[in-house]
Amino acid sequence: MKITVASGKGGTGKTMVATSLAFSLAALTPEQPPLFLDCDVEAPNAHLFLHSTLTEQQEVGLLIPSVNEAKCTHCGKCAEVCQYHAIAVLGKKTLVFPQLCHGCGSCTALCPEQAIIEVPDRMGIIERGPAEAGISFARGVLDVGEPMAVPVIRQLKKWAIPSPGQVVIRDAPPGTSCPVVETVRGSDFLLLVTEPTPFGLHDLRLAAQVAGELGIPVGVIINRENGSYPALDEFCADLNLPVLMRIPFERTIAEGVAQGKTLVEIHPEYIDLFKQVFTEITLIIQEIRQSRGQGNGFRLEG
Ligand code: SF4
Ligand code: SF4
Repeated sequence: MKITVASGKGGTGKTMVATSLAFSLAALTPEQPPLFLDCDVEAPNAHLFLHSTLTEQQEVGLLIPSVNEAKCTHCGKCAEVCQYHAIAVLGKKTLVFPQLCHGCGSCTALCPEQAIIEVPDRMGIIERGPAEAGISFARGVLDVGEPMAVPVIRQLKKWAIPSPGQVVIRDAPPGTSCPVVETVRGSDFLLLVTEPTPFGLHDLRLAAQVAGELGIPVGVIINRENGSYPALDEFCADLNLPVLMRIPFERTIAEGVAQGKTLVEIHPEYIDLFKQVFTEITLIIQEIRQSRGQGNGFRLEG
């Protein structure tokens, strides 16, 4: 089972929830602790909470075109086929813009003069190793200045393969853009962490819409709850999004997280609560599979 923990905006406590869930699952099934993927490749920090030891590393990159000007006739076919405007013919010069290139290979395949070769271009690294409580840990790290996180996340997902029956927890980047979609893709469940504010509700709506588009079932965890905010509960009720946990706004939690502690270290009673969340997720997935066939979730209109 693959569970992605995401939030529409940064700073909602997404990593706190994801790492606490990981520790709780490690307590639930010590014979097979989960695999944790930190897909927040622009700012990975889950290793600080999980105390991982990174023992293996691999470079990640794309194959970028390189034009042999001696063979190039400047016909412009490569520029025509490139959807990302990453290659252009300007008079007697054919220019490649690696920062825009998605490494699709179309220009190389369609060049009539075989004037293009592909060269590897590093974008970041993926790393893995054991973490506390037997958790298997892997993360991606995007190089500074690299604009595209998706290839690093995609490679991380391919590289860090779970053993049979092992639960996978993916910690998604914040937001609702392509890196989040790539992280969520292929998940069985999306756990959205939000906070009871107008901003939190706005971003939850966007994140739920992405899940609806991908057909993935969603549950909500409300963090920093401080009194009633009916609009959030109404939204969840209207869309039939189960609220699986409410974490109160508490100074001790904020201080503990700032010191690198997970919620279950600060308040060990949350281990049982996260186990219950996992049980509910399992039941929701089973119900959906039974009633609609594998992989179907809800759809959010509009
Ligand atoms: S398609 Fe090939 S020959 Fe034509 S402009 Fe591009 S690199 Fe040059
Ligand atoms: S590899 Fe694809 S994205 Fe990159 S320049 Fe060629 S056509 Fe454009």
